[in-house]
Amino acid sequence: MWTWLIAFLIAFFVSGAATAQQEADTVAPEAGSDAAAAFAGLSADARAAMMAKQAGRPTEAGEWMVAAANPLAVEAGARVLRAGGSAADAMVAVQAVLGLVEPQSSGLGGGAFLVWYDAESSAITTLDGRETAPLAATPRLFQTAQGEPLKFFDAVVGGRSVGTPGTPMLMEEAHRRWGRANWAGLFDDAIALAEDGFTVSPRLADLVAGDAKRLRRFPATEAYFFPDGGPIAAGDRLTNRPYAATLRQIAGDGARAFYAGAVAEEIVAKVRGAGGNPGVLSTVDLALYRVKERPPVCVAYRGHDVCGMGPPSSGALTVGQILGMLAHYDLAGLGPQSAESWRLIGDASRLAFADRGRYMADADFVPVPAEGLVDPAYLAERAELLSGDDALPQVSPGAPQWDHAFLWADDMSIELPSTSHISIVDAQGNALSMTTTIENAFGSRLFVRGFLLNNELTDFSFRTHADGVPIANRVEPGKRPRSSMSPTIVLKDGQPVLVIGSPGGSRIIGYVAQAIIAHLDWGMDVQQAVAMPHLVNRFGSYDLEEGTRATELSQALAAYGYEVGARDLNSGLHAIAVGQTLQGGADPRREGIALGQ
Ligand code: GLU
Repeated sequence: MWTWLIAFLIAFFVSGAATAQQEADTVAPEAGSDAAAAFAGLSADARAAMMAKQAGRPTEAGEWMVAAANPLAVEAGARVLRAGGSAADAMVAVQAVLGLVEPQSSGLGGGAFLVWYDAESSAITTLDGRETAPLAATPRLFQTAQGEPLKFFDAVVGGRSVGTPGTPMLMEEAHRRWGRANWAGLFDDAIALAEDGFTVSPRLADLVAGDAKRLRRFPATEAYFFPDGGPIAAGDRLTNRPYAATLRQIAGDGARAFYAGAVAEEIVAKVRGAGGNPGVLSTVDLALYRVKERPPVCVAYRGHDVCGMGPPSSGALTVGQILGMLAHYDLAGLGPQSAESWRLIGDASRLAFADRGRYMADADFVPVPAEGLVDPAYLAERAELLSGDDALPQVSPGAPQWDHAFLWADDMSIELPSTSHISIVDAQGNALSMTTTIENAFGSRLFVRGFLLNNELTDFSFRTHADGVPIANRVEPGKRPRSSMSPTIVLKDGQPVLVIGSPGGSRIIGYVAQAIIAHLDWGMDVQQAVAMPHLVNRFGSYDLEEGTRATELSQALAAYGYEVGARDLNSGLHAIAVGQTLQGGADPRREGIALGQ
């Protein structure tokens, strides 16, 4: 995969998009054979979609499309859409399979945010299925006896980090609102794959091998991922009967089969009994869990409305701030190769992250100046700060309309490959953008009834106060941790034109903003927009994607005054452009495809 990616990116930057495609075509067959072997048995359509991605071309379709991180999950969604199901129906099928074949990233034990465009009413609705802190959580949850923050992985691995999962109820709620297909049938593919076995992908195998020490800490986790003592390997056929049984219960009785009764009790027992690091989740937390509808956040950009998920996600506010500032500059004129474009994007991002750190958290617990943060006049004022010639020597939060003295919450998140994004457009014209996660790769590493439990609570700030002033994103009972997930739908004249999102921790915000700019300002098609090399700046230092031509900007960016480094930037963008036809793009850094008809 990497061979191809690097070849494509080099070709893209050197010779422009058209030549890149031709060159990528010539390297695709060889580089593609690994992935093709791992996904033997896929439909001809799915194989064609995989080859299109490898050749750097978007998938084209006329009626519907689904893009997600694993071909088996995409095929399950495609079957639902082909049979006339809605985007919400297809999401249920996709998520059920992802929980099996990509268990490290998302599943029943996690949470998600969903953005929905309704073709009939033209309305955008956002649903919050974020994990929630147990009622017994205290401000000391992630602190030592001396009140110092725990080390990240000491907090992550075990029961302490597990929040009440939201994904099962979100699946049910989306189906209740927008589903047309029979609920139980949506689990058929996932149940069959779990019972008959699925082929372990290279990515899953690599991640299991790389995380052996943590996964082996818990017997049930070890038994599943190291069935014969060694790690599961790419190409192995793996069954997961407990997962099939859990899905059957949810298929039969709905999400309540998860939030009460034997499943809930076993989750709680697992969390409370986690050796060395027990948590405080209770059956009351599960019984009280609710999906929340939140007001969508929409920001104007180049004649479009960029709509996404508000608090407790910082996604739409931060992406919106970045774009809202950049709207004052001519990025199209500057182009993607200009260092000046990246100075503007990098510093707009730093300014937005400064506001994010101070103001953004679960709005049910702390007042968040959501409107003030994306107010055009405020963003115009912040955009002025970008008018100089060099990198800003330092950035600090602004004063949006409405002000509360919250101090900067240190960003504790560590970037490891996890989380997943699903984009779907159905034949009726509804669009769904959902980012779904168990947080860290393999979450808390606790495995129960065939799925992993999340470690989402480590998205809270481990410190509660700084110099006696509370931090907005501190731990509180019943609160939802701040997220960076940015499921997005871009509208033009009220109609969706782009459905997009990505995993990647707090770099999600940069990945999504960059891909939107690439598509809207630089005219890249969705596949080019998701594949282009990443340049991300959150807190001052500029991350350039290792092994790509992005690193050639390093001197120019250093000359502006940035600290610059090359690193792996593991996005997982899945996007659908909606126009005369549908065009789908799947991130070449992961195993997914975009498939349509
Ligand atoms: N837990 C993160 C969030 O909600 C996502 C983690 C990831 O993308 O790797 O922002």
